[in-house]
Amino acid sequence: MSIASRAASAHEQLRRHSTHPLIPDSKAADIAKAAARLAALLGIDPVYVQPNRSWNSLELPLAPLTLHASDPDDEQQVYTFSYRDPLYDDEPFFLLGPCPVCDAMVPLAEVGSLADLGTFLSQGPAPLLDNGMLPGSYPDEFDRDPAHSSNCPFREGES
Ligand SMILES: [Zn+2]
Repeated sequence: MSIASRAASAHEQLRRHSTHPLIPDSKAADIAKAAARLAALLGIDPVYVQPNRSWNSLELPLAPLTLHASDPDDEQQVYTFSYRDPLYDDEPFFLLGPCPVCDAMVPLAEVGSLADLGTFLSQGPAPLLDNGMLPGSYPDEFDRDPAHSSNCPFREGES
């Protein structure tokens, strides 16, 4: 896909999704821009990234935006990412996957570049040790995530 056609597609996606019947236009535009940034990072056409457009920025504590990126070569292959707050354009994306202990969908890797995703895909999540120490390859968001089951040792105390 040429640079010009990918750029045109990004422009079209932003135009189409910058309004939404249920949320303010500025919020819809922020979500659309976050989706376009993820598509750019992954080197795919923005049509392959589906953000959760019902994301609610008024809910506290603020839940991250979820985005689903499907592989243009195999649309069954879907990667799920989270993004802390689309209001800001300099946050990292986190790849979500099952917690190795409790299976809840939690952030397993910080993905700031395509190479970060490549590192994770080649190595997988590092094994978790019984001592409760988190290997350095896990993002801080891993054990901050409230999705861990209540008996998962990597669930942080309620804050
Ligand atoms: Zn867990």
